[in-house]
Amino acid sequence: MTGRPAHPAGERAVSILYPRRCPVCGGITEPPGALICAKCRPLLREVREPTCRKCGKEIEDEREEYCADCRRHRKSFAGGVSLFNYNAAASESMSEVKYKNRREYLDFYADEAVRRLGGRLLAMHADALVPVPVHPSRRRKRGFNQAEILACRIGERLEIPVVSGFLQRTRKTAPQKELGPEARLKNLEQAFTTAESAPAAFRTVILVDDIYTTGSTVEACTRVLMRAGVKKVFFFTVFIGHGM
Ligand SMILES: [Zn+2]
Ligand SMILES: [Zn+2]
Repeated sequence: MTGRPAHPAGERAVSILYPRRCPVCGGITEPPGALICAKCRPLLREVREPTCRKCGKEIEDEREEYCADCRRHRKSFAGGVSLFNYNAAASESMSEVKYKNRREYLDFYADEAVRRLGGRLLAMHADALVPVPVHPSRRRKRGFNQAEILACRIGERLEIPVVSGFLQRTRKTAPQKELGPEARLKNLEQAFTTAESAPAAFRTVILVDDIYTTGSTVEACTRVLMRAGVKKVFFFTVFIGHGM
């Protein structure tokens, strides 16, 4: 158990009526009421130092400042942090959220973000958290945007306003595995737009998303936000690809 006070009485009553399910095994959490099973916790691998000074991805060689990708491709974002390395358990957990409506798993990830990365997120001095949008038709079908839920839970606890609706997704993008990095980025940039230019008070933002793999989504969103007048963009993702 962590040091934070267990559960307020109301929450405990709710967790008896609706027992919490574990974001990794999908069973009732053990011990009951925990956000994740003690035995499942190690299956999610925390991002450890040394990390890339740009994207925050784990790197092998601590003498390097940047990962191979950030050395090769210039990034427009200022930096980013992630909780876990993307692995099989991570992929399974996120597809349960998205396709089986297991929104409650996001409680664990948001809690973890605040507990482990809260200080670093606050040090970014962001004016807002901006969830990476999904296309409206996808949002309708799924009923929610996982990035938006994460942003709201984290923003509430760190007292950073959440601004959704400013960055919009106007096009669905086809799977882009066959495209090279530059073509993929171009394609993606055209999928996002902003409602208007950024208000003057909107200088620094943190993009929030579930996964950073090639980084092209975060990079595309950053470019679109900066064109709209945002000065500095950081990102937070729950998972980050490793060894790419
Ligand atoms: Zn479990
Ligand atoms: Zn990097």
